[in-house]
Amino acid sequence: MTRQITVISGKGGTGKTTISSAFASLADDVVIADCDVDAADMHLIMAPEILETKDFYGLKVASIDPDLCTACGICERSCRFGAIGPDLHVDVYRCEGCAVCEYVCPSDAITMLDRKAGDVFTSMTRFGPMAHARLGIGEEASGKLVSAVRDAATELALRYNKSTIIIDGPPGTGCSVIASITGVDLVLIVTEPTVSGMHDLERVSEVVEHFRIPALVCINKSNINEQNTNRILDHCRSRQMDVVGILPYDRTPTDAMLVGKTVVEYVDNDFSSGVRAMWEKVQKYLFAE
Ligand code: SF4
Ligand code: SF4
Repeated sequence: MTRQITVISGKGGTGKTTISSAFASLADDVVIADCDVDAADMHLIMAPEILETKDFYGLKVASIDPDLCTACGICERSCRFGAIGPDLHVDVYRCEGCAVCEYVCPSDAITMLDRKAGDVFTSMTRFGPMAHARLGIGEEASGKLVSAVRDAATELALRYNKSTIIIDGPPGTGCSVIASITGVDLVLIVTEPTVSGMHDLERVSEVVEHFRIPALVCINKSNINEQNTNRILDHCRSRQMDVVGILPYDRTPTDAMLVGKTVVEYVDNDFSSGVRAMWEKVQKYLFAE
């Protein structure tokens, strides 16, 4: 049976992608899913060779047929997103696809059309298959796109008979994050000892607790504020979340990223050894009966 782990953090820049890509390079039988669709950067390390591209359709968009429209203006007045202008032109970037205009139009002049919002890719990397996505210009990340990437990763795991899916999750606590953790076996929360890092850890641990998903914690850049690191340790104890890694502030992730490598491929130092040791622990939780 395939086991799934999602690496998340309350905010971006805590080292989530560094850790998930290093795990991918250490795992034996893995599919990688880059679900940080808004700021996808795993491909910089993974160098995926794209095998297949699928169109991703997000929200629908209203379209007015000028031959049927009588210019009554009801749709313009009914759109609470201000997506229909006085010239009865639909601004596709404002349209939320709610279909109210289609419902109120007395002339059946409005149709809701599919709108391509991005691409979902299945690829091959030096560590195994990978599912990832690219958002269209002006499009926003959505839980639906995260789910599409996860579905592609599950298909890859079945096709190539892989035991593990490692998901690089989006930052925050919104619906994209929820879509990235729903149904997984384990979550690893990466945090840092800053005020915002601690605040985000609190919010994100509430989310995983709500969904009853077992969670582990990694404290990155632990030496930038040891007092806060101790506070995080207390917080994790009180929530019964095991801290499986305490990593120092280090240039290794940046240097490794610059040459397109994971930290464990790039160098054997304290930082990369810390990540290796963490993966050993994480595997025990992930494959525990
Ligand atoms: S409600 Fe229908 S008929 Fe009236 S302006 Fe809008 S599209 Fe035209
Ligand atoms: S679908 Fe909704 S948001 Fe889009 S134009 Fe119609 S009323 Fe406005």
